[in-house]
Amino acid sequence: MMMTAKILIVEDEPAIAELLAFNVMQAGFIALRAHDADTAWAQIREHSPDLILLDWMLPETSGVVIAKQLRAEPRTRDIPIIMLTARGDERDKILGLESGADDYITKPFSPRELMARIRAVLRRHIPVMPDENVSAGGLELSPTTHRVMAKGTSIELGPTEFRLLQFFMTHAERVYSRTQLLDQVWGTQVFVEERTVDVHIRRLRAALEPVAADDLIQTVRGSGYRFSTQ
Ligand code: CA
Repeated sequence: MMMTAKILIVEDEPAIAELLAFNVMQAGFIALRAHDADTAWAQIREHSPDLILLDWMLPETSGVVIAKQLRAEPRTRDIPIIMLTARGDERDKILGLESGADDYITKPFSPRELMARIRAVLRRHIPVMPDENVSAGGLELSPTTHRVMAKGTSIELGPTEFRLLQFFMTHAERVYSRTQLLDQVWGTQVFVEERTVDVHIRRLRAALEPVAADDLIQTVRGSGYRFSTQ
């Protein structure tokens, strides 16, 4: 790391916030603190954190809502988020990842595991995608303008869905496993579960559905996914 990373801890329970800040500083990072959405946004505006540890259960505005707001803002869209929660069930986990979190950790967590995940997310190497426009299956994707058009209609995609679609369109007709897609689209060093791929595939299909292009993304049972125009 070139500079000391700034980590914003958004947590309303003082004892947990204290513990997190202690571990973050022990690991050599700068710890910023916020106890609700308003103070979080103030810290983000003032300090531009490199990563946000975001508690799910916060007074008034939940962590899920804050994650969605962060992802909707061009300025904050790419800040990695690790969601902290006491809720361990699978449905909540998917909801947390769908809100835009990069990773998810359940309380009580081991400080060592949390620090390993922070490092993994910060080290995350995002593969470089080509700049050329690509068209396939009636879709036209432009990396420079970050736009996807289908039959004259513009399709709104989140940054991950955009990368996923670009990868598929430039590698049509081949089957990719979830692990291969994680490596190619998310990057090899990122700590995300294979289930994350399914979440983003679902979002990509939902975005393509209004132009009847969702069938281009095919599930290959037992293997993974394929972009096919056939
Ligand atoms: Ca809380």
